[in-house]
Amino acid sequence: MATNWPRLNLAAGPVEVTARTLRDQSRPVLYHYDPAFIETFARVNDLLKLVFRTNYDTIIMQGEAILGLEAAAASMISPGDQVLNLVSGVFGKWFQDFIEAYGGETVELAVPYNDAIDPEDVRRALAANPGIKFLSVVHSETPSGTHNPVREIGRIAREFGVITMVDTVSGLGGELLSPEDWGLDVAVAGPQKCLGGTPGLSLMTISPAAWAAMEARKPRPLRGSFLSILDWKATWLENRRFPYTPSVTEIYALESVLVQALEIGMERFVDRHQQVAAACRAGARALGFALWPARDDIAASCVTAIKTPDGLDEARLRSVMRHRYGVTISPGYGELNGKLFRLGHMGPAQAHPTVLAAQLAVLERSLADIGWPVQFGAGTGAAMAALTDWDDAAS
Ligand SMILES: *Cc1c(COP(=O)(O)O)cnc(C)c1O
Repeated sequence: MATNWPRLNLAAGPVEVTARTLRDQSRPVLYHYDPAFIETFARVNDLLKLVFRTNYDTIIMQGEAILGLEAAAASMISPGDQVLNLVSGVFGKWFQDFIEAYGGETVELAVPYNDAIDPEDVRRALAANPGIKFLSVVHSETPSGTHNPVREIGRIAREFGVITMVDTVSGLGGELLSPEDWGLDVAVAGPQKCLGGTPGLSLMTISPAAWAAMEARKPRPLRGSFLSILDWKATWLENRRFPYTPSVTEIYALESVLVQALEIGMERFVDRHQQVAAACRAGARALGFALWPARDDIAASCVTAIKTPDGLDEARLRSVMRHRYGVTISPGYGELNGKLFRLGHMGPAQAHPTVLAAQLAVLERSLADIGWPVQFGAGTGAAMAALTDWDDAAS
């Protein structure tokens, strides 16, 4: 018998998309040089600027966000360049591989994976290492359910003339960004996290300083490569051409999720994620769980990471939720596997009281199923009690 499909995909991305996204994605596939597709691609870039809240150039690379992150390293780092890599989780640590694959030298500033980077430590590290040229940081560490103070970090980097590479794959839509104001030189997001879109694209903003760094790369600028951001500048930005065929249907889906986010409005879009995340934390605590993040003010708005208590078989819990009730949540990732599990609330379809209530109710039922003591209604009740400001009809 084939595995049943889930009813609710509340994983750490990709997540369920709205019916409207599915419908918009199913338009006929256009030839990418058809004037209608050129118009669509231009419009999607304009929408992306509004969602990122930037006037910087946007680049949409045609692969899941890891492509954009690797492309940032590959396009800017010259052999011997020092990169301050801020590590507060799995994705931060992984970025070191990209730095070193392209000849960079890593200077690491790390904190435990339940904590966030202190901007003052960044200042000290940059002051102590005047040779540092780039800084890499993860905005929202999805595997840890934490976020870093990227605004403060980016501003400090700018004071030192250091160019930033920012993984905001799950941060865009979970916090209000401002690339110019925050000193974000290359920011990379994914449509399949808080925007609630389909996976397969890297959404990027590029500052003038980042373009200059790409042009200055030694021994020569990176061109003629799937990883080249400059190829996109020379084709799309300067000539309305493409370096290769874009993923036409993913662009339709992206347009749809950007329009949906802007209809809600970015302030409200972010506020909804933050409200549901706070309510989810209240629900988890009311069920007797401790949260993985060291403090609430560093808890991410895309997922809620719960510390696995002694004696709880979290893999069995997730399996019961998935197979008996059709609710998918995520385990810990990489070295965090087993140490935590993650409730999901990313995307406009999921960051909603109805879905949170269902998720917590199924969590309670599943805990009882595996013999974990639970007071039915404690988690859902606390979460709903915390949601005092919700109003779908408010504008
Ligand atoms: C999802 C995500 C990525 C992309 O990684 P995948 O494992 O390919 O989904 C990168 N960084 C962060 C912080 C993410 O949440």
